[in-house]
Amino acid sequence: MEDILAKAEACVGLTAEEAAELLALPEHFDDMLFASAKRVKQKLYGARVVLFAPLYISNMCTNSCLYCSFRQENTLLMRRKLSQAEIAEQAKVLINMGHKRVLLETGEDLAATPLDYVLESIHTIYHVGHSGREIRRVNVNIAATSVENYRELKAAGIGTYQLFQETYHEPTYQLMHPRGPKADYRYHLTAMDRAIEGGIEDFGLGVLLGLYDYRQDTQSLITHAHELKSRWGIGPHTVSVPRLRPAKNTRCPDTYLLNDQQFARVVAVLRLALPLAGIILSTREAPVMRDFLLDVGVSQMSAASSTAPGGYGRESESRQFEGIDHRSLDEVVEGIIRRGYVPSFCTGCYRKERRGNRFMQLVEHGHIKDMCQANALLTLAEYVLQFASPAAKEAANARWEQWLLAIPAGAMRDSARMKLERALAGESDVYV
Ligand code: SAM
Ligand code: SF4
Repeated sequence: MEDILAKAEACVGLTAEEAAELLALPEHFDDMLFASAKRVKQKLYGARVVLFAPLYISNMCTNSCLYCSFRQENTLLMRRKLSQAEIAEQAKVLINMGHKRVLLETGEDLAATPLDYVLESIHTIYHVGHSGREIRRVNVNIAATSVENYRELKAAGIGTYQLFQETYHEPTYQLMHPRGPKADYRYHLTAMDRAIEGGIEDFGLGVLLGLYDYRQDTQSLITHAHELKSRWGIGPHTVSVPRLRPAKNTRCPDTYLLNDQQFARVVAVLRLALPLAGIILSTREAPVMRDFLLDVGVSQMSAASSTAPGGYGRESESRQFEGIDHRSLDEVVEGIIRRGYVPSFCTGCYRKERRGNRFMQLVEHGHIKDMCQANALLTLAEYVLQFASPAAKEAANARWEQWLLAIPAGAMRDSARMKLERALAGESDVYV
């Protein structure tokens, strides 16, 4: 174990077999594992935690995923496809909370919500803001599609394309996805190959933890990441760790549910095995767990989320599943600061063409961390001036200097200091 951890702390990643060995360790090794993962995260990404919100544009779906409320057979769900005006209104609610990054999500219904609808929605979200208050990055989580469609998504200016394999275990996959286009295991599994072929540089993997043995699915996800890297020369930009949640009118067996300790171990092992990837946590997890996982290698989080189309600014029953972190964005921001991290709304890399392999190389050589710290401060300053509560403001204002000093002395720190002054004086959208 010591050899594997030493290798991991050199930030070179782990093989799927090494990761499996860590996952098989008895629980009393967990503290060592978590501490190792924290050091790797700190080394490559520093203290920043990127924040975003999901934006569900439709819950119409022709698939039958056993675990999801949007499944076609759920006749009790109120179906809703948002109009462009409604999407703009939802984006405005998020902008007025202080969000800058959204993850667009939708069910799969080729007739009701074809790719053109998704493309139009992306355009709407990008164009809704004004005077520096806008959504600056739209990531997308939509069903597996063709090379041609991925090309169009890329042309629409998406950030990361995410798709979760749900489970890599084929018999379980077939059981969970009995009908609809998603029932095609091979087509789903090869989606990222088509996405990369279509020009998508930043892609995100994930498994729905709790569908099958978490150790095997984690191992398979790592294998998938390594195979994509060897086939295409590029690994995943992010890895998501959705854990199965209760969802209305679903009928998913609970045989493989994992407990909090096991879940934390998965996060730590992914951080060690795929050190260059951002690890994304959603509001599927409770506040205590989310806070704890910051210390285990999570680098991105959703906040103040709704999983219902049209669910921001009003109550809605048409949720995909039940979230359990009901804190406001401001409460999440303050909590992150008080735990010693820096909340970030940064979209700098994506707009400065630091994508795909260019981004990965910056991470690998330890350069992204200081840029992230600088951009986290600049975007947090903007948030503090425009949206923060007195408590969050006070927490941030007490730490600017300490945060600046975390950037090594030199050109990056000087530039961050100069730009931070501009941001704190009211200039928006300043980044390095
Ligand atoms: N419809 C597309 C698909 O399935 O790939 C993309 C969007 S879907 C809204 C996003 C993800 O939500 C799915 O990939 C699945 O992992 C997750 N999900 C669905 N039901 C869930 C549940 N009950 N608990 C936790 N996550 C769930
Ligand atoms: Fe539809 Fe995606 Fe839900 Fe499956 S997980 S029912 S494809 S929205």
